[in-house]
Amino acid sequence: MLIVQKFGGTSVGDLERIESVAKRISKTVAKGHKVIAVVSAMSGETNKLVGYAEHFSDNPVREEMDMLLSSGERVSASLLSIALNEMGLKATSMTGRRAGIVTDSFHTKARIENIDPTSMQNAIDSGNIVVVAGFQGVSEDGLVTTLGRGGSDLSAVAIAGALKADLCEIYTDVDGIYTTDPRIEPDAKKIDKISYDEMLELASLGAKVLQTRSVEMAKKLNVNLVTRSSFSDAEGTLITKEEDIMEQALVSGIALDKNQARVSMRGVKDRPGIASDIFNALAKSNINVDMIIQTVGHDGETNLGFTVPKTEMSDAQAIVQTFIDNNEVQEAEYDSDICKVSVVGVGMKSHTGVAAKAFSTMADENINIMMISTSEIKVSMIIQEKYAELAVRSLHGVYELDK
Ligand code: ASP
Ligand code: MG
Repeated sequence: MLIVQKFGGTSVGDLERIESVAKRISKTVAKGHKVIAVVSAMSGETNKLVGYAEHFSDNPVREEMDMLLSSGERVSASLLSIALNEMGLKATSMTGRRAGIVTDSFHTKARIENIDPTSMQNAIDSGNIVVVAGFQGVSEDGLVTTLGRGGSDLSAVAIAGALKADLCEIYTDVDGIYTTDPRIEPDAKKIDKISYDEMLELASLGAKVLQTRSVEMAKKLNVNLVTRSSFSDAEGTLITKEEDIMEQALVSGIALDKNQARVSMRGVKDRPGIASDIFNALAKSNINVDMIIQTVGHDGETNLGFTVPKTEMSDAQAIVQTFIDNNEVQEAEYDSDICKVSVVGVGMKSHTGVAAKAFSTMADENINIMMISTSEIKVSMIIQEKYAELAVRSLHGVYELDK
């Protein structure tokens, strides 16, 4: 098999850890596999470099930031290659440029445009372990670019896609994705297999483990993604195509998003185009609207509610106020003490009653549901924030995720 193994900052956090990463790679090679390792900078390194730049400027030249930040990954890539060579293995390290990773010119947040895998393929074919510096590429005009913070996951997935690798393993300090946050529910279980779409819906559970962008890319490129710990041999969580998961769970996990705030508008002029006006105004200000509900209008007026990230609440408030000032909305109420609890599972597509069960669970706990939204594989409820943990634990139990 051809396996891409990506090691994050903590996994290459010091020289001893780089040594154990080298040992892990050598074990994989000993099993007859070919390995491309993708590495992050040693933990704390990128922040340190950002700090250096900030010593000189509040707004450092972006092209130079990319020159600077990309160096952290070069350090860990070359050190890992040196360690592998010392163990008698053939290894060669590559910058983004040598690995053929071409991006756009959006410095410090570049997007990968294409990968020319020739150099990587040639090196593999001549028996090398290839060690790629993650998080970086090169623009059409030959300048170094970086992919945005946390971007080495993306490098790994894109490389796995370009080389049609059998597996892309993301090594971090946690051993996989759990059915819910184990700090809230100690009985949360590690998930063995989950589909791309479920993983995207459970983003809050994977937030510390995997970038959403890299799950999206894995889905697009059909990359089998595994998240696992570099500190143990425990098997991680496989994120893959829905069709490839034999035993589909009815519900795979319970996600919690505390970064939610609610706007409820009353006496909204019930005329064609009002929703378009309000939500376009919000979109223009880059406000991320999540849930929306509109009630049945009467007497030419209706009620309209929506949620936004807590951090964008005051911006949203300013915009809603302009509609109040124009007499298009009578009044609005703002509530930041809310959260979103979501039940996620592909099994919902073929089973009825999953949503009803979620609602009765809230009823049994005497928790009021303020808003509901559903998709094929998700039921989300907005509730008061003080009930967040209780709701998560109850739902986790009701769907027997602890079994
Ligand atoms: N070193 C970069 C960062 O800290 C990229 C990464 O670790 O994925 O954001
Ligand atoms: Mg990372």
